[in-house]
Parts: sequence; C-alpha cells; structure tokens
Amino acid sequence: MNDALMPTYARSPYAFERGEGAYLYDTDGRRYLDFAAGIAVNALGHSHPHLVQALTAQAQKLWHVSNLYRAPEAERLATRLTEHSFADRVFFCNSGAEAVEGLIKLARRYQHDAGHPERNRIITCQGAFHGRTLTTLSAAGNPKYLAGFGPATEGFDQVAFNNLNELRAAVSGQTAAILVEPVQGEGGVRPASLDFLRGLRAVCDEFGLLLLFDEIQCGVGRTGKFFAHEWAGITPDAAAIAKGLGGGFPVGAFMATEKAAAPMSAGSHGSTFGGNPLAMAVGNAVLDVILADGFLSGVDRRARIFWDRLQDLAARYPHVIAEVRGAGLLLGLRCVAPNGELVAQLRENGLLTAPAADNVIRLMPPLIIEDSHIDEAIGILERVCGAWVKAA
Ligand SMILES: *Cc1c(COP(=O)(O)O)cnc(C)c1O
Repeated sequence: MNDALMPTYARSPYAFERGEGAYLYDTDGRRYLDFAAGIAVNALGHSHPHLVQALTAQAQKLWHVSNLYRAPEAERLATRLTEHSFADRVFFCNSGAEAVEGLIKLARRYQHDAGHPERNRIITCQGAFHGRTLTTLSAAGNPKYLAGFGPATEGFDQVAFNNLNELRAAVSGQTAAILVEPVQGEGGVRPASLDFLRGLRAVCDEFGLLLLFDEIQCGVGRTGKFFAHEWAGITPDAAAIAKGLGGGFPVGAFMATEKAAAPMSAGSHGSTFGGNPLAMAVGNAVLDVILADGFLSGVDRRARIFWDRLQDLAARYPHVIAEVRGAGLLLGLRCVAPNGELVAQLRENGLLTAPAADNVIRLMPPLIIEDSHIDEAIGILERVCGAWVKAA
C-alpha cells in the first residue's frame, strides 16, 4: 500500500488495469465479473465504445471554458433530461454530494422566497446516505460518519424509513422539504415502498413542502425506469442524480420543476467545473444508449431474471443469505454470514460485489449485462455459498 494516499478507505489489495464490458482485468491479467460497477457508476460497463468515442472526440475539441459562456453540450443534455423527466430545469455539478447540497439550497431558498424563511428544516430518513460533505452528512445523520467532525449543519430531522405516520408527525411550521432516496443504497439496499413514496407526495402537497429525491444511486436507468420514483407513479419537485449519468466520468446534476427552481436565479449558485464539456459529452452519450428504444425494458427483464435466481439461491442457502431485496439491478443480499468475508470470497472466485450497511452484499451490475453474465454470477455465488455451508 502507498503512504502518500490518505488512508480513508479500507481498500482491497486488488488493482485493476483495464475493463471491457462487464469485466475487469487485474494487473496479473486475471478476469473478474464486475457486479460492483464502480458502485453503480459504470452503468454501461467498462470501455463502452460509444462513450470512449464521445469522450475522445470532445477531448480533441474543447475541455473547459467555464460558465461565463454558453454551453451547447450542457444545454443539449439538460434539454434531454427535462424531456424524459418531471423536471424543467437542470444544474450540473461534479459529484453526488454536490447535487444533494444543491437540493438543500434550492428547498431553503424556495421557502424563503415564498415568504417562509422560518421553513428551513428538511426531514430525512434513518439509514440514508447523501454524501460526505458536512451538510450532506448532517442530512443523513449517521453518527458513525459525523463522529469528530462536529458541529453538524443545523436543519435536519431524521425519521424512520418507510414509516409515513412517523414522518407526518415530524412535519412542523419549520419544515421546508422532505429528502428521501427511493431506494437506499449505502444503507443496505432498502427500497421505499411505493405507498410510502406516494404518501410523501401527499404530505408535501398538504403542507406546502418540496419533495426531494436523491436518485444518485437508483436513478439513470438502474431500476429499469429512468428514475426509480417512476414506479410509484408520482413526481418530486426536485431530484439529484450523479453516479450512472457519466458512466464513469465524474458528473452530477440536480433538477427541478420550473416552480421549485424559480428562486435559483443568476448568481444564486455555481460550480467552476459544473457542466464541463467533457462531462456533458459523456452524459449525452450515456443517454443515447439508456434512452434508446428497448434498453430500459431490457434492464427490467434481466433484473427480474436475476431476482428470481437470487431468491432461489437464498432458499437453498438460508445459512448464508437471509433475504434478497432491492429494485431493478440494484439488489442486495442480506447475509447471515459476515458480508465482508463473503465479498472477499466472491472476489477471490472472480465476482466483484460491494458491501452495504445492515450486513448486505450489494449487486449492481452494469446495465448492459446479458443473461449469460447472470448465469456466471449465480454460478460463483453458488460455489461460495456452497463452500460456506460446508465450512460452517
Ligand atoms: C454515492 C451517493 C451520494 C454521494 O455521491 P458522491 O459522488 O460520492 O458525492 C449521495 N447519495 C446517494 C444516494 C449515493 O449513493
């Protein structure tokens, strides 16, 4: 390991040299089936020819000009995002946490400009993850991540996830908005029930609150629809996306209806790198693929196959797997055995996955996988689970 890197991550000793589709190759040339996908970032797998072409073509032309000038690639990406969503306005930034910060600023400013400056608190859910800046950590309220970094940013009230009664009771005259992940990712791959999502919309309408969705992990096609909230048949007032949007190139965005975005006038927010031409070119190329006819229905079909196969696996190895949960291709295995050890054994057997809270193994393959990749992943899971039962 290298002392020059701040040791903030518990890295595995594996180093990868190149990737192709659903596979990564390590520095010894060994091949791994990548069902971690850079934590749901490599939505189109590795080295997707269309993305490589878009990035290299843009790199020959222009890298950065700043937001002092018009941004044709950003205008195009924003227009396409609004055409395929509830939103009318998009702000581009560079990461997920920044996108959530944008949602928080937008909600406060919206209530302020509506004559309610006292409405500056946001209700969030326990088990949430919204990023690692001080304010997004304060929003999620996970004491583990905040320890020693106090004081936290004021203005957040956490309630139990999927409990509409508790949430409703937490609304006060100071509440500006509700911020929720339609599928909690880091928190253990826990989907919000569709009734909970619909209930959130109703509570926001009743009390004049903004509904904010953090779709950084579950959005951009991961659940078989462009946004996970589409499954509930409701729309938020604003949402954040990031991970899958750049397919591996850093980019984030928050988007809002015209009404919710109204206070974000000239000078109200900014980002030096936001809307960078390289990021915008790649984002447009990602949308070319994800929005193509039949792509999302294919994700949905393969997700259902994978789900059934995992259920079958869990039924056969109840000493290893307690529960299958998630949505689309954001799936979690809640484990009986320690998830960290299982992730390590799967990796040794050629399958990359990622741990999540609540002793969960996260499976978030690239959206371009084929049925054969599901077969291969199930085969490796089968081998590791089988060996585990024998060892126990
Ligand atoms: C990853 C993630 C974030 C933070 O994104 P960064 O790019 O790491 O800042 C925020 N919210 C959710 C739901 C995420 O999965």
